[in-house]
Amino acid sequence: MDDPDTGAAPGRVVVSGGGVAGLSAGTFLARAGFDTVVLSGGESILRRNAHLENVPGFPAGVNPRLFADLLERGAERGGCLLEEGRVVGLRPDDGEFRVRVDPDTGGGDSGGDAATLVADSVLAASWSDPEYLRGIDAVGLVDLGSKTYVDVDEGGRTGVEGLYAAGRLAGKAHQTVVCAGHGAEVALALIEDSEVPFYHDWVAPEGYFTDRGREVPPGCEEIDAEERRRRERESMAVMAEAFETPHGDEPTAHPSLSEEGAE
Ligand SMILES: Cc1cc2nc3c(=O)[nH]c(=O)nc-3n(C[C@H](O)[C@H](O)[C@H](O)COP(=O)(O)OP(=O)(O)OC[C@H]3O[C@@H](n4cnc5c(N)ncnc54)[C@H](O)[C@@H]3O)c2cc1C
Repeated sequence: MDDPDTGAAPGRVVVSGGGVAGLSAGTFLARAGFDTVVLSGGESILRRNAHLENVPGFPAGVNPRLFADLLERGAERGGCLLEEGRVVGLRPDDGEFRVRVDPDTGGGDSGGDAATLVADSVLAASWSDPEYLRGIDAVGLVDLGSKTYVDVDEGGRTGVEGLYAAGRLAGKAHQTVVCAGHGAEVALALIEDSEVPFYHDWVAPEGYFTDRGREVPPGCEEIDAEERRRRERESMAVMAEAFETPHGDEPTAHPSLSEEGAE
């Protein structure tokens, strides 16, 4: 999607947090051509839910752990690299970001073999951990009781160019669809700010644009009837397999009920 005549090339993005908002953001970014790494420092809080009943498209609800698995599969298929690792430090550095990642996803900084990733942009979606943002002066953090939120504008922008926040961490309602939508919205703001040519992430039937004498806009794709049927069959097979048997995992307990009694 890079047009050397009219726009910038997509850059490297680190998404901190592979939950609802982060995976949704990552999917949009990777599909727009960004080199996208999604880091998970643990599991999504959604895995504590018993049965997810308010996500559009699932009239009788859906197992939230299956839904979370499918979010991961979709992000990978969209082109994201999903990695385990907890972001424990972040430093803006001359137009780039140095992201310190602890491979120990148990929480805190193990002091072990932490790695540093370099990115052009960072999208923080790491509910409920804002600690790695604390040392950055231009990032506003709002402490409310035991929770901390990142102060962002309508596009999820923080006070640091190239640094964004999405989902519950950015103060959005504690609802799956809201956080997924916000992840997408913030990703679109990042794409717009980067000046990568982009119209909409759309798949349209063959001729939708071109039969009207228009070029297929950047971000869009036209597919013919054969390809449309092939994709439909593939999507049916993927979903049939995913829904064939009940999910094996039980809901994750609240940390205060676990053996460690954490949080
Ligand atoms: C018991 C329960 C039931 C719920 N039921 C519903 C429901 O029925 N309907 C509904 O709409 N919503 C429900 N929710 C809310 C929904 O799960 C959340 O609003 C949603 O998951 C928030 O998305 P998020 O991406 O902001 O956070 P999350 O999905 O929690 O994702 C955050 C991710 O960031 C990771 N992370 C944290 N710190 C770091 C770090 N330093 N580095 C890297 N990664 C990090 C976390 O491990 C996690 O993977 C429920 C929540 C709970 C607890």
